[in-house]
Amino acid sequence: MLDFVITVDRTLMTNHHGKEFIGFMTTSPAIGVPEFLWMWICAPKPRIDKRTGMPLEAPYGLRKVEAALVKAGFKAGVVDPDYLHKYVDHAKAVMIGHHDFFAFCAPSNTWWAVTKREPVNRKYFMRLMNSDAMRRFKKRGGKIIVGGPAAWQWLHVEDLWERWGVDCVIDGEAEKVIVKIAERIVNGDPVPTYVFVGADEVPSIDEIPTIVRPSVNGLIEIMRGCPRHCRFCSVTLRPLRYIPLDKIEEELKVNWENGIRHVLLHSEDVLLYGADGVKPRPEPLFRLHELALKYSETLGWSHVSLAAVVYAEHNGKILTKLTEEIFSKTGQKFIGVQTGIETGSPRLAKIIMPGKAAPYKAERWPEIVEEAFAIMADVGVVPAATVILNIPEETPDDCMRTVELIDRLRKYPSLIVPMYLVPMGILKDKAALLKFRIKPEHVEVMWKCLEHSLYWAPKLASMYLSDKKSAPVRAMVHLFIKFVEWKKKSIEKRIREYLEMAAEGTYEHKAVIEASQT
Ligand code: SF4
Repeated sequence: MLDFVITVDRTLMTNHHGKEFIGFMTTSPAIGVPEFLWMWICAPKPRIDKRTGMPLEAPYGLRKVEAALVKAGFKAGVVDPDYLHKYVDHAKAVMIGHHDFFAFCAPSNTWWAVTKREPVNRKYFMRLMNSDAMRRFKKRGGKIIVGGPAAWQWLHVEDLWERWGVDCVIDGEAEKVIVKIAERIVNGDPVPTYVFVGADEVPSIDEIPTIVRPSVNGLIEIMRGCPRHCRFCSVTLRPLRYIPLDKIEEELKVNWENGIRHVLLHSEDVLLYGADGVKPRPEPLFRLHELALKYSETLGWSHVSLAAVVYAEHNGKILTKLTEEIFSKTGQKFIGVQTGIETGSPRLAKIIMPGKAAPYKAERWPEIVEEAFAIMADVGVVPAATVILNIPEETPDDCMRTVELIDRLRKYPSLIVPMYLVPMGILKDKAALLKFRIKPEHVEVMWKCLEHSLYWAPKLASMYLSDKKSAPVRAMVHLFIKFVEWKKKSIEKRIREYLEMAAEGTYEHKAVIEASQT
C-alpha cells in the first residue's frame, strides 16, 4: 500500500498516443467532435497495471516527486486517476501536479476566450477534485498537496482551495520541499498552506533525483532554467543547471529498460545544453545526442530558441550536423519542436525580451525569426511557434509588425499559435491582466495565425502521424482540420462580435471565467 499517492487528471495522465504534440489539444474544449472523441484523440488512457493502478508511463514532473519520496524512503508512487479508489482509504496524502489546473495559462485561456467554452484540461481537473474518491479521501482527513508550474493559479481560486480542502500548495521546484512536507505528514505535524520555493530550497544538480519509473514518451530533462530572462517568463526565476551526462544516462536507461523507445530531450532550449552563455557549443550537443541515440529508436526536442538556431548554424553548421546524425540513426525525416516568436516588433522585443535575440541585437529580432525558420525548413525541423498578445507595453503598431512577420513566414512549414499573456514570472503580481480585453489588433494577429496554421496543418498532420499505428488518430485530426476550415466563416463572425464588444468595452475574459464557475 502506498502512503503517498501522486496523480493528475486524464488530460495529463496519458501518452497522447506517443505523439507529444497532440497533447496541445488538451488545452482546448472539444471542437467539431463530441468530447469523448476529442479526449480519445488527445488523451487516451495509458497502459496501466490493473492490479496496482500504476501507469507504465507518467508525466515527468510527477516522476520526479515520486523519485524524491522513494529515495527518502517513503512508500510513494504515481497512480492513474481512475484507480484512486484503491488507495484513498489508507493513503496519508494525495499529491497532484499540473501545468494548468484552471486553464488560466496560454494557450488554454486563449481557446477559452475564443470558444467561450471550458477547455478539457480544466474540466477534467475539476472532475478529479469532485470525484467520489477524492471526497472520500478528504472526509477521512487525508492531506491534499498540489504543485507544479501552475501552482500560482491557486491564489486566484481561494474558494475552490477551501471547498476541496487543499492542505498545501507548493510553488516552485518541489524535489527538496516535498520530502520535508511528507515527513511532517508522517509525524502528524501541520503542513504549511503555501510554500514558495526560494533559492535555498531549489535542488542542486546532486539533489535532483533520478526518475525510478518511466516518463511519458521518454521525456528526459537535460537542463533547468534559461539564461535569456524574458520579462514574462517564470523560468527566469530558476537558476541555470545543466544535468550531467551520467545522470541523463541513468534516466535514459530507466525508460529503455521499460520498453520506451522514444526519447524527448527536454529543456527550455535544447541547443543551449552545455552552451557558452547563449552561444551553443558543438561538443556537449554532439555528446548528448550520441548518448541519447544509444537508448532511442526515435528522438525529439521539446524547445529551441530561434537565436540559438541561427547561431548554431552559422558557427559550424551544428544544426545541419545534429539533424543528419539523428535522421541517419533513426530513419525519421523531421523533428517537431516548440519555439517562441512572441512578437514581430523590434521595439517591443527590446522592452520585454532583450535577451531573446542574444547574442544578436534585439533590434534584429524579426530578421532572426525569419532566418531561423529558413534554416529549420532546410534541415527538417518543424516549429510550433507562439506569439504573445496583450503585453502591457504593446501598441497596435507592434501587433501589425507581428502580422507582417507571420505573412513572411508563410513559406516555411510550421504552426503558429497566439497566446494571451497571463501573470507569471516577474509580472506575477499584475493580477489585473486576467481581465484582458480583446483588441482589434489582437484579432488581426489571431486571424493571421489561424490562416497560417490551417495552410500547413494538413501536410504536417500527415507527416507527423504517418505511421500505421497512428492511422485512426490521423483520420480524426484531418477531420478536425476540415471542420475548422469549414467553420472559418463563423469563426470570423465570432471574432467580429468580439471586436464590437471590445469597442464598447463590454468584453472581459474574467466574466467568462466567472460564468463558467457558476
Ligand atoms: S527564451 Fe523562453 S524559456 Fe527563456 S526566458 Fe525567454 S520565454 Fe522563458
